[in-house]
Amino acid sequence: MMNLKKIFSSDEIGSLLDALQFATVKHRHQRRKNSDAVPYINHPIEVATTLWKIGGIREITTLMAALLHDTLEDTDATEQEILEKFGKEILYLVQEVTDDKNLSKQQRKLKQIETAPNKSIAAKQIKLADKICNIHDIAYSPPCDWSLERRQEYLDWTIKVIAGLRGTNSALEIHYDTILSQAQTTIAQLNAEV
Ligand code: NDP
Ligand code: ZN
Repeated sequence: MMNLKKIFSSDEIGSLLDALQFATVKHRHQRRKNSDAVPYINHPIEVATTLWKIGGIREITTLMAALLHDTLEDTDATEQEILEKFGKEILYLVQEVTDDKNLSKQQRKLKQIETAPNKSIAAKQIKLADKICNIHDIAYSPPCDWSLERRQEYLDWTIKVIAGLRGTNSALEIHYDTILSQAQTTIAQLNAEV
């Protein structure tokens, strides 16, 4: 099949930059949990880049929601703000990938497994990319205070979430399987050293 290049309008590029700008401001005081404490915004950028490069995603709305995916959950961004700035479609997508903070950590983990199969295609793609980035971090730049057991538990949990997201984007799913396998090898080697 011919590989047609998509041409983006200046409105689409402008909207993508607006989403990047909004997420950057909202996450500006946050760091990832790894020992280098990299700026939090690196993570949403990685998720959007994974969708673009690995998943071949060219829908601007999906890429925008990827940049915004942790703003409702982890910053003071409100649904109203996202609605006013980016419209209903983006708000719904960000809501779909946001945990209910009224639930306990345990309940949230369970809910992600249960609800994964019912998400929209775009939300499933964002969740796939998010989990790919997180298991990569769990293997190579984990939260400083996490035991090997906890890192292994996290990998095991993502397998259950990803099971409900399959049949969505084969390139992302294959990439997840590759990164997971490498992450499991890394953790097994670290375990053997203990
Ligand atoms: P989380 O599962 O919330 O922490 C992982 C999340 O933190 C990721 O999903 C990611 O979310 C974000 N994150 C930030 N920095 C990193 C990084 N460097 N690498 C990977 N992820 C990163 O952990 P919680 O502390 O909330 O604990 C959740 C569960 O763990 C609970 O169910 C609890 O029972 C269990 N637990 C287990 C322990 C054990 O020793 N076995 C001890 C304590 C808790 P995002 O994509 O949103 O950025
Ligand atoms: Zn995330």
